[in-house]
Amino acid sequence: MARDPISEYYYGPAASDESLEDFSDRMEYDADEQFERNQMFAEPGSNSALRAATKTNPRNLPCPTCGEPNRLTPKDRQLGYQCNQCADEQERGY
Ligand SMILES: [Zn+2]
Repeated sequence: MARDPISEYYYGPAASDESLEDFSDRMEYDADEQFERNQMFAEPGSNSALRAATKTNPRNLPCPTCGEPNRLTPKDRQLGYQCNQCADEQERGY
């Protein structure tokens, strides 16, 4: 199946990602945010873009693509991500 318009949105320009991060940082900056900043990515060094789960950003939302529960954090959903498994399968063209 060809990439659909939704997929284009998921993998859109990084610029929109950055602006969302800046906005949330201004809205709720505190020690927890600073801690999260150091733990921004769930899997540093991998190609995963998913955010690390924290107490203020729990991984408690289902993936919009496969529907598996507890795959995404609220920040992942805000940024329009899907789970690693779906992202990998999409990138490999399955
Ligand atoms: Zn999924």
